[in-house]
Amino acid sequence: MTYLHLVNRPEGFPSADDFAFADAPLPELEPGAALVENLYLSVDPYMRQLMDEGWNLHTPLEGRSLGRVVASANDRLAVGDIVKHRNAWRTHALVRPEDVQPVCQHEGVPLSAHLALLGDGTGLTAYVGLTRIANLRPGETVYISAAAGGVGTAAGQIARLLGAGRVIGSAGSPAKVRHLVDDLGFDDAFDYHDGPVGDQLAKAAPEGIDVYLDNVGGDHLEGAIANLREFGRIAWCGGISGYNGQPGQVRNIDEVMGKSLRLQGFMVRHHLDAREEMESQLVPLIQHGEIVSEETIVHGFENTVTAFLGMLRGENTGKMLVRLR
Ligand code: NDP
Repeated sequence: MTYLHLVNRPEGFPSADDFAFADAPLPELEPGAALVENLYLSVDPYMRQLMDEGWNLHTPLEGRSLGRVVASANDRLAVGDIVKHRNAWRTHALVRPEDVQPVCQHEGVPLSAHLALLGDGTGLTAYVGLTRIANLRPGETVYISAAAGGVGTAAGQIARLLGAGRVIGSAGSPAKVRHLVDDLGFDDAFDYHDGPVGDQLAKAAPEGIDVYLDNVGGDHLEGAIANLREFGRIAWCGGISGYNGQPGQVRNIDEVMGKSLRLQGFMVRHHLDAREEMESQLVPLIQHGEIVSEETIVHGFENTVTAFLGMLRGENTGKMLVRLR
């Protein structure tokens, strides 16, 4: 098997030299375990934070993955089963039933969607953020930052299905902005490079917004707070603008109090009980073409680091995945 490990802790934006590939014999099939051949890996923004602390140096890295059981010493895992697990950034992994989530394959649903629209760190995050955290109600106006990414493309489409009155997104290029409006049902979108987020959001939502799903933090959070109506809600999902350095300051945090806003952070791992509800709603919609699992798929395990760095630079539309086979 081949795996990736971290050889440096980067300062600022990481580089390919911070990682190295290594080969090792296939893990021995211990009693009760199964050997999985990884088919897809997920490269996620939180991994940049793990590069500072969390990931050990010179140790196989971890992350979300989807693979096929190729040998088993456990009755609960049969050869050929497709499972999701957390031992990614490697070609093979030894797992036990308690480490995996079985994948139920549905006609018309691509396998990769189980790490994207149907994945914990993408569709489930968007779903939980909009429903449980922000309590989005029909007719309301919602703003989503990093809207052309994995969580963002899921959130925009889910907001529409939840009956949002107006869905506004921001992203980092004119092509992404066009894609959001032309293909994904956003009512309006803007490129955050074109001017202050608060000013552009005010133009897109002159009457203000009710809900903000924050994937970026810093100036995006500041701009959203400025445009939230009284009693508005912020689902604080992530802050990617600060992952490679200092996040921008949020200078109007007092308005959270002044406008009786609700700012609630969340981690999707605390809401895994919503998986079934989310899947049962989204699977038929994927099958009927009413929602799409947006993905950018990079081919080849050898390109995992390129995919990860590309995602941090904004080279992805939808969820960034690596396909191994
Ligand atoms: P994305 O697919 O959205 O990829 C990251 C995107 O962020 C890039 O494509 C890029 O798009 C954008 N970006 C990068 N740097 C900046 C910047 N400085 N300012 C604005 N945008 C930037 O990743 P995910 O969908 O996986 O994650 C989105 C967010 O959700 C992240 O903050 C992540 O940490 C968070 N998250 C939180 C979870 C939770 O449990 N709370 C679970 C999963 C994800 P662009 O071209 O538009 O700049």
